[in-house]
Amino acid sequence: MDLKKLIREIPDFPQPGILFRDITTLLANPEGLKYVLNTLTRQCEALRPDYVVGIESRGFMFGMPLAYTLGIGFAPVRKPGKLPAAVHCAEYELEYGTDRLEVHRDAFPAGSRIVIVDDLIATGGTAAATANLIEKTGCTVAGFAFVVELTDLGGRQKLPDAPIVTLVQY
Ligand code: 5GP
Repeated sequence: MDLKKLIREIPDFPQPGILFRDITTLLANPEGLKYVLNTLTRQCEALRPDYVVGIESRGFMFGMPLAYTLGIGFAPVRKPGKLPAAVHCAEYELEYGTDRLEVHRDAFPAGSRIVIVDDLIATGGTAAATANLIEKTGCTVAGFAFVVELTDLGGRQKLPDAPIVTLVQY
């Protein structure tokens, strides 16, 4: 299936000069959605994960249904101040300044194998910070899964050594 036909391109969003890949048009297409979840399921099964982690917020849209199809649990990685119980934090660099992500300290038992899911990898900063969080919980990153990879930005070089699943590359 040609996923590029289902992903809309929005120039100058959220800032001038950025070409935003809009996955809402893919989510709205029943065949596209089924293809993405079936393919992610097949490729992630091979990683033998115990839990899926989805990164706020588009990572929830793919990560939660993927956890369901894999028959395993899901945990959210969220922006600061959103999770109610005790958290681990990881900071990461933005173009200007830093940002922070959080996960519940008791989200999974130590030693669990985690697959990290987001809609898209660009510079890799968000996913690398999430891997850092998973390590703080005493768990292992079994792999990463992204629907879209922007290859020119070299994001995969920033990730720790683990399999990386991506379905469409620009
Ligand atoms: P990175 O940290 O890899 O540079 O950026 C990835 C994060 O930014 C992901 O959470 C992703 O949702 C968001 N992101 C950056 N650019 C785009 C884009 O063009 N389309 C979408 N859907 N998300 C983007």
